[in-house]
Amino acid sequence: MYSFVNVHKRYGLRNVALRKINLDIERGSFFVLYGPAGAGKSTMLNLLGGITRPTSGDVQRDGVSLLPLPPERRAAAMAFENYALYSHLSVGENLAFPLKARKMGRAEIEDRVKRIACMLGIGHLLDRRPGFLSGGQRQRVALGRAIVRPADIYLLDEPIGHLDAKLRHQIRAELKALAQDLNATVVFTTTSSREALALGDRIAVLNLGKLEQVGTPADLYHKPDNAFVASFVGDPPMSFVSLRVEGDGADARLCSLAGERLAGGEHIGRFKQMTDLRAGFRAEAVTLGAAGRAGTLAGRVDVIEHLGYANIVVVNVGDDQVSVSLPPETTLRAGDRVGIAIDTEKFQLFQGDRALEGRA
Ligand code: ADP
Ligand code: MG
Repeated sequence: MYSFVNVHKRYGLRNVALRKINLDIERGSFFVLYGPAGAGKSTMLNLLGGITRPTSGDVQRDGVSLLPLPPERRAAAMAFENYALYSHLSVGENLAFPLKARKMGRAEIEDRVKRIACMLGIGHLLDRRPGFLSGGQRQRVALGRAIVRPADIYLLDEPIGHLDAKLRHQIRAELKALAQDLNATVVFTTTSSREALALGDRIAVLNLGKLEQVGTPADLYHKPDNAFVASFVGDPPMSFVSLRVEGDGADARLCSLAGERLAGGEHIGRFKQMTDLRAGFRAEAVTLGAAGRAGTLAGRVDVIEHLGYANIVVVNVGDDQVSVSLPPETTLRAGDRVGIAIDTEKFQLFQGDRALEGRA
């Protein structure tokens, strides 16, 4: 297990890159660090690889501090977003380089290089120099150079960020399979929600140097701890509708600000004193009905996004916006009035930006 223990990282006096990070990364897991640019993802990888030191706190492997170990003694293989390849060497020689440096036998080197090149779709480029490659091809060579060699931990910093969608999809699947084969620990950073959910055994959501939540893809998707995670994980993001509690005791009910009833029941009274309540829910939890139908919230279609396999319809409900996933043959248009029905089993209550325990 790799651990961050109370890690703080500051660049210079003011620039705080990481705040009090406590995080465990299981051996053999595919761990994703997910966050916007500037969140601190690369800094965390560099701390694991020994390229940077924490300002305070510790980075450990199996409970033993890694700080005394220089990068070359950490058995870590790193691939950076800004790849640097040896321009005077061919692709094949670039891939073989880390293996030759470890004095691996010729046959094994050839074997490994071929396998990785094939997986990354660069097998036909082995004789070419990096200067004659496209950006996407160079990125694949850089990734290959990192994963071609045996290591305890692979640190992959947005390694497929520059590839087109089809290639990303393909390499994503192969990377996951390869990691399982090697039983390797992989720490992978990305700014793509899709990539994070598809690859991660566990995902840490990082924002402004702070860990917002750590969990499985399902945890983050269905039970976000806060509004940042809810709106950053999944596409479309979680929608929110503002609520208030009306009535008392058995008559208590959760209502939209327009007074439409969302859910009722005795236990709702416990939210009575709370202000700033919101229901958070996924597009799949919403069905659309005719405007004015009982049990629905009144809304008006704002935008329709055509995804091919589905249409995401964004509906204005009061001041809130709700995303609904509908079949592609939807005939709705912007401006149409509709009724929104939210599955009460599938929404989560929030107060302000924090998720509340338990359901309504
Ligand atoms: P990410 O990889 O998530 O985009 P980084 O770890 O690169 O985030 O950066 C986190 C913060 O630390 C940012 O505010 C960035 O400007 C700052 N930072 C990163 N590296 C340096 C550096 N070498 N010197 C000064 N500030 C840095
Ligand atoms: Mg980065």
